[in-house]
Amino acid sequence: MMTSPDPDTFSLSALQLSWLRELGIEKPWLPVTGSLATAQPASPQVPDVLVAPQAAVATVDPAIKHPAHHTSQQTIQVAKHQGTQARVQAREQAVVELAPLSITRMQVAPAVAAPFAELVDLQALADSVHACQACGLFRERERPVVGDGVVRPQVMIVGEAPGDQEDRQGVAFVGRSGELLENMLKAIGQERRTTVYVTNAIKCRPPGNRNPRADETQACQSYLLRQIELVQPRTLLLLGRFAVGSVLGVVQGENDAWQNLRGQKLVHLAAGLSIPVTVSFHPAYLLNRPEHKAAAWQDLLALRALLEMAETV
Ligand code: URA
Repeated sequence: MMTSPDPDTFSLSALQLSWLRELGIEKPWLPVTGSLATAQPASPQVPDVLVAPQAAVATVDPAIKHPAHHTSQQTIQVAKHQGTQARVQAREQAVVELAPLSITRMQVAPAVAAPFAELVDLQALADSVHACQACGLFRERERPVVGDGVVRPQVMIVGEAPGDQEDRQGVAFVGRSGELLENMLKAIGQERRTTVYVTNAIKCRPPGNRNPRADETQACQSYLLRQIELVQPRTLLLLGRFAVGSVLGVVQGENDAWQNLRGQKLVHLAAGLSIPVTVSFHPAYLLNRPEHKAAAWQDLLALRALLEMAETV
C-alpha cells in the first residue's frame, strides 16, 4: 500500500525531484529503510554530562532526534525554546548537556573561544591565512583556500580541506565534490553565489589529499571560529568529521562517532549569535558511498526546516 506523502517533503520543485531521482530516490516521502537507515543514532544510553570550560558551543536537545520527521508545530516550539535558551545562555556559562542524548560512548568537547579578535573583517582574516605558517601545510600547498560567499548567508558550509583543484585555484569546492554540493544546495532552494558561504575546516591542502592531522586542524580552528563570527550565518552545515571536530569540538569514540550528531539539534554560539547547526556527510564521501545519499537528503530536509523555522520565529 502506498504511504501518504508527508507535506513537508512533498512540496518539491521539478528540479529537486530530478536531483532526487539522480540519487535513486523516486519517492522522497517514503520512510528510509534497510541499508539506507544504517547511519541513524545508536541505541539509547546515557553518556556523561560535560561542562564547557570556555565557549558555549554545542547544546543538544533530546526533543529533536530527527527534525525532518517532526511536525512543524513541534519544530516551532523547539525553535522558540532554542531562542530563549540562546538569550539566557552566556558564552561563559556554557554547559553542554549530553545526558539525555541517544549517543553511545560519545562526548563532544566544546571548541575553544575564537581568538583573533584583531582580525576585524574577512579581508584581514584572509591576509592572515595567506601569511600563516602555524603548521607545516603552508610548505607544500600552492594556495590557501580561505572561503567565499555572501556575508550573513542562509547557510555557511564547512567542508574538510582543499583538494588538488581547490589548491590550484584557491577556491573551495570546485571539483566533483563541489558539483555535488551545489546540486544538494539547489535541492533545498539555496544557491552558492547568492545565499551561501563556503569554507573548510583546514585552509591548506594536506599533501596527497591525506586526512588532516590533529595539529593541522588545531592550527586552523581559530581561523574557522573567527570566520564564523565574521560571516554571521543564519545556519551552519558541517560536512564530515573534520568540520564537526573543528566547530563543535573533538568527538570521542569510534572514528564515525560524529555521525551520531546527525539529526540532533545543535547550536553554535558565536559573537552573541545562536546559530543552528546541521551535521551531514561530506560530498566526497557521498560520491564514494552513494547509498548514504538518502540519509544526506534527510539532513538537508532538516536544514531546510531550520531555515523555514528561522523565518517564522
Ligand atoms: N573537499 C573539501 O572538503 N573542501 C573542498 O574545498 C574540496 C573538497
